[in-house]
Amino acid sequence: MPEKSLRVCRKCLLYAEDRETFFKRLEAYIDNLSEEDRTDQRTYEHRLNQCAHCPNLSDGMCVLCGCYVELRAALKVRRCPDVVRKW
Ligand code: SF4
Repeated sequence: MPEKSLRVCRKCLLYAEDRETFFKRLEAYIDNLSEEDRTDQRTYEHRLNQCAHCPNLSDGMCVLCGCYVELRAALKVRRCPDVVRKW
């Protein structure tokens, strides 16, 4: 059996990138989501507006799920993780 090599994606470690670069990459990832996967603009803005006024938002992340809310809100299949969903 061939020996498996250990593959490490060093780009996954946040300390490897400065904050600005990380958020540009996150923004590019969101921009490149397929229409099939991505929420429409109106829904996206509604979701982010809810997050912006939510006490669970901290530094761009939802403290309940650990997601960056801009990414979570951009995905059709995702929902607000709060017990009483805000979106
Ligand atoms: S996803 Fe829901 S709980 Fe998390 S910050 Fe947004 S509105 Fe708040």
